[in-house]
Amino acid sequence: MQFIDSHAHLNDPAFDPDREELITQKLPEAGIALSVEIGCAPEEWTPALELAARHPSLIGAVLGVHPEYASKLNPANLKELAALLPDKRNLAVGEIGLDYTCFEFTAKERQQEVFSQMLALANQVQKPIVLHVRRAGEDYAAYDDTFHALKHEWKPSAAAGHPGVLHCFCARYEEAKRALDMGLLLGINGCFTYKKNEYIREAVKKAGSDKIILETDCPYLSPQGRRGLRNDPSNIPLIAEFAADYLDIPLEQLAEITVRNTKALYGLV
Ligand SMILES: [Zn+2]
Repeated sequence: MQFIDSHAHLNDPAFDPDREELITQKLPEAGIALSVEIGCAPEEWTPALELAARHPSLIGAVLGVHPEYASKLNPANLKELAALLPDKRNLAVGEIGLDYTCFEFTAKERQQEVFSQMLALANQVQKPIVLHVRRAGEDYAAYDDTFHALKHEWKPSAAAGHPGVLHCFCARYEEAKRALDMGLLLGINGCFTYKKNEYIREAVKKAGSDKIILETDCPYLSPQGRRGLRNDPSNIPLIAEFAADYLDIPLEQLAEITVRNTKALYGLV
């Protein structure tokens, strides 16, 4: 059985001691056919492409500006990003979006401005998008503002089987439905496995097991049972088992669906 980790940060310093060994040995042993590296700050773009270049069959790259790092964007590195996005190793524009829990790093208005710039770049290169949306408590304004921007500014890639994913899905069915209506997939990770998150599981079940892809978002968000430990793509089968069990479908079927969806999203054959 094979899996894909659709969203990882293997260039994080947490992996400095064993990155190459992890990629070339531990991942293939765990059935991870591909891990997609998200370079979401200016200093991460070239290293993400380089990681994919060193491991062409095991690592893909996605480049963009995370809302938390939006304050790092300036006219010079925006131009650099525009030049890097068409690279064949870059599969999408991400992670981009709105995070209403981190205004101490980037103010709301600046986040919205940069999100608009990222959508304009995605429209220009016609690649899919990887969305990061995080709400402050029970206030879902981050989702409202994201969907509003998508509706008015985004021209989904016509070539992609799925034009985007709502990464780290952590909301209600209402938000899942709005995402699905725009052709987005839902990215399922450790959050789906945490005891307190029954509402996320219920929303995903209602959305349908055919609308999901798997991710770790490592080194963060280790699944239940491994919390507190460093997360890495070899935990994908654990998340898959948990999801297959909850969604009441065979593990093989979940593996097959999520690999197919991830390949459709990232334009892989
Ligand atoms: Zn991430």
